[in-house]
Amino acid sequence: MAGTPPVQIRDFYRRIQNSDTDALAQQPYYVDPRAFNNPVSPSPLLRLATLRNAAWQESYHAVQEAFFDFAGRCMYCANTKRHIHGMQASPVLEVVGFPGLYIYPKLLSNALVHRGLIDMLMHDQLADPATRTNLHEKYHVTYPEPSITKGEANTSFFDPAASQLKMQPRLEGSGDWTASPLTTRALLDKLRWFTVGDASADGSMPPKIRALVENILPIKAHSATAYVSSNQDPLELRQGHGDAGTFLDTSLGCDGVVVVGLEDSGERERGATSSEAHSVVDADCWRDLLVGSDSEDDEKAPDRQHVSEAGNRDDTITSTRNTPCLAAIHLRSTDALLFTGLSRRAWYGVAKVLPGSSPAFEQQWPCWPGTVERRGQDNWKGCMKGRRIDLVVG
Ligand SMILES: [Zn+2]
Repeated sequence: MAGTPPVQIRDFYRRIQNSDTDALAQQPYYVDPRAFNNPVSPSPLLRLATLRNAAWQESYHAVQEAFFDFAGRCMYCANTKRHIHGMQASPVLEVVGFPGLYIYPKLLSNALVHRGLIDMLMHDQLADPATRTNLHEKYHVTYPEPSITKGEANTSFFDPAASQLKMQPRLEGSGDWTASPLTTRALLDKLRWFTVGDASADGSMPPKIRALVENILPIKAHSATAYVSSNQDPLELRQGHGDAGTFLDTSLGCDGVVVVGLEDSGERERGATSSEAHSVVDADCWRDLLVGSDSEDDEKAPDRQHVSEAGNRDDTITSTRNTPCLAAIHLRSTDALLFTGLSRRAWYGVAKVLPGSSPAFEQQWPCWPGTVERRGQDNWKGCMKGRRIDLVVG
């Protein structure tokens, strides 16, 4: 959804972007799902999403079956018949001040699933001519020939056959007359987003990805886009679906600090009366944060205790100031954010990407550890260093 984020949310995003990561972890607005119930380093804005969590735990056997179906096998044993291992799911969490926003830590912790998903996106989807990318507007994107492996035709920009591709800049429209042709390496460097399926046709998502998402969460997967970001090219603030429906953002690759901002409004307060949206934080707390953001004077910034006390209030406090709720959520590979209800209209973006946080992905992809080198792609090892993928489905 196009538009300009409110200045307070923009300022907060920039502030997080320029923060030292260790210092950030000490801030009251920092949300670390791994710190849930950790008395040493609590995240004061983090809470158990009681109802959502109960439903999630109840249905987790079906989730594991969906993982088995996606991967085509079990990651724990050699039994080829569909089965589950009685695993415990990570609890579903919520963030104070964001009614309808849920964190599913380690949603895709099944390695066969998350590695399979990354491969499917970066190989099959990216090399599908129906896919649109940020580069199509400026380049004539050409595609590699399929290669045959074990009787199956596969296409990938990371196959040796694609190394000779040269994609010419478009000279019409907004094309740049001075641009050089793109090599595959340059394509990856300039890649910021790509559609998963044909974005212009609802229901064109690859059936396997659609089934995975719809079988694990209560969401209708109409379309999906994968965003590739790094510290040099972070995912700028964007607005979700508004009222268009629930959507999911799944983290793959490097850790990211995701900034979420929700504008205060009368609607938010009305929403706070719903059974699940019971967490509304004192608006003064957010206002103080923003005041502190422009000041070098640390005494003006609230300490943990301040926010903790405010966050623990059970009564809904009506704000008379137009102050957004703000949080910086540390998401690791396989974590996911589900935006439902009022949080669908939240602004969010990846303010920081943490290089070195996903060693296997950064150092090995496309040749995951423990697998044979994929179709002569070993010279691409390390090409995803410092990058993350946000797969947004909704
Ligand atoms: Zn098994």
